[in-house]
Amino acid sequence: MDADARKAIRKIVIVGGGTAGWMTAAPLALRLGKACAIVLVESPDIGTVGVGEATLPTIAYFNRALGIDGADFVRKTRATFKLGIEFKDWGHVGNRFFHGFGDFGPAIENRSPYTYWLRLARAFKDTPSYEQWSVATAMARANRFTHPCGDQPSVTNAFQYAYHFDAGLYAAYLRDYAMRRGVARVEGMITGVEQHPGTGFITAVKLRDGGRIEGDLFIDCSGFRGLLIEGVYRAGYDDWSAMLPCNSAQAVPCERVDPLTPYTLSTAHGAGWTWRIPLQHRTGNGHVYCDAFTSDGEASRVLLAGLDGRALDDPRQLRFTTGRRRKSWIKNCVAIGLSSGFLEPLESTSINIIENSVGWLLQHFPDRDFRPALADEFSRLVSQRYEFVRDFIIMHYKITRRDDTGFWRYCAAMPIPDTLRHQIELFRETGRVAVYDPQGFSVASHISILAGLGVSPRTYDPLIDLMDPQALRTHFERVRETIVRTVDAMPDHAGYVAKLTGVP
Ligand SMILES: Cc1cc2nc3c(=O)[nH]c(=O)nc-3n(C[C@H](O)[C@H](O)[C@H](O)COP(=O)(O)OP(=O)(O)OC[C@H]3O[C@@H](n4cnc5c(N)ncnc54)[C@H](O)[C@@H]3O)c2cc1C
Repeated sequence: MDADARKAIRKIVIVGGGTAGWMTAAPLALRLGKACAIVLVESPDIGTVGVGEATLPTIAYFNRALGIDGADFVRKTRATFKLGIEFKDWGHVGNRFFHGFGDFGPAIENRSPYTYWLRLARAFKDTPSYEQWSVATAMARANRFTHPCGDQPSVTNAFQYAYHFDAGLYAAYLRDYAMRRGVARVEGMITGVEQHPGTGFITAVKLRDGGRIEGDLFIDCSGFRGLLIEGVYRAGYDDWSAMLPCNSAQAVPCERVDPLTPYTLSTAHGAGWTWRIPLQHRTGNGHVYCDAFTSDGEASRVLLAGLDGRALDDPRQLRFTTGRRRKSWIKNCVAIGLSSGFLEPLESTSINIIENSVGWLLQHFPDRDFRPALADEFSRLVSQRYEFVRDFIIMHYKITRRDDTGFWRYCAAMPIPDTLRHQIELFRETGRVAVYDPQGFSVASHISILAGLGVSPRTYDPLIDLMDPQALRTHFERVRETIVRTVDAMPDHAGYVAKLTGVP
């Protein structure tokens, strides 16, 4: 045995069996299941948050990397397809816009067609809204869905998709996957931790029933409490509530109603917003709000009044502090999921951050030396991702003309990070978007939110003036006609899901 093999991780202990725990266990089992032991501990007495039901398109890559069959996944998690989010009453009451997955038609000279649309809209006052060139938006508005197809850039693949799924069923799906590949599941409440007296490394977790689980690497997926990363290592937490004041949520499922929409609906209210997430067997609903501007009772009334089917339960109350753990890897403990931070689910980013965190862990997988540089690099990547997502979410609140409640007046006046101030200024002045995070939200996503909230660029790229406006108009018209024709021929979303799953 060479020296490196003698240092290899022999046992991984995952603390927590929520979405983060099982999303971590599954890829680790696939990659390392034969090389080391993996144990996951979860406590039924504590339970999971279990409300994360909307995702981003990267979830499809995550599933594919695990070799998961798409139809089987949709059937077992009662999933539907998500082409984006419709925003209602954000920016101002009566406003409606769509954040679709994909650009506003095929790229022109490798850039977003929106840049060219700006020129067109100034040259021809009757130019339709840029949204009409978003294939995902056109599909969503018509309740159509089909998978993207074709290798060459075309209207048939100028969109991406994600899923809405039942969070409990997704965790169970990944649990089966991971356990089939050797992950051992232990039910028990962790009540203590043993540390090496010299290094401070965690050597074992202790269970209430007297059990003890030793390990080399401990992954903290224990949720908001951060049992190890905070409880043992006091990593610290950056509280961002001054810029994202919502701190409460209520969630309630209701009966499914037709049509089965292939998108999430987000409606702004007096002190926050509500979500509507359609699944095959029910609709998930929730109200995210700031308790300094409304009461829990009023929040519940707003939530229940907006349901479009019969409530299937009483609203479930949740509290949170928006922010990020200062370090998400300390010594031999890595935090993934809510233990590493939380941003409200306005753009369905938590599960995406879990996917990324697991990927970064595999890219920076340690041996038992646990070199601090690896931990620092992982923490840097996770921290930055939280910051970029934070800016993207704040944008929805900050750019508002709403002044009908104290909440919206607070949002309009609140201080924002310099990075976001620059982003808004750059777009307002020039129609361009600063790409801080190439793996994060795309230029088109930024345009959807900024323009959707009513920011109208004062100028546009002067180089586009060199193009013949009539030729540009002909090109845009042709693309729009193709989008209408293509979407018209697509199957209805509900029918597509039924055919895929074999469940009428
Ligand atoms: C209101 C709301 C809506 C959301 N919506 C979305 C969404 O649409 N999209 C999205 O991407 N994300 C969403 N999220 C986030 C998403 O729910 C979480 O990121 C995801 O569920 C991961 O949670 P987790 O596994 O980290 O924690 P949890 O679900 O809290 O799981 C923690 C686990 O740790 C275990 N545990 C804790 N302490 C102990 C102990 N002492 N001993 C043993 N076990 C222990 C528990 O038993 C449990 O298994 C939402 C979150 C909230 C609050």
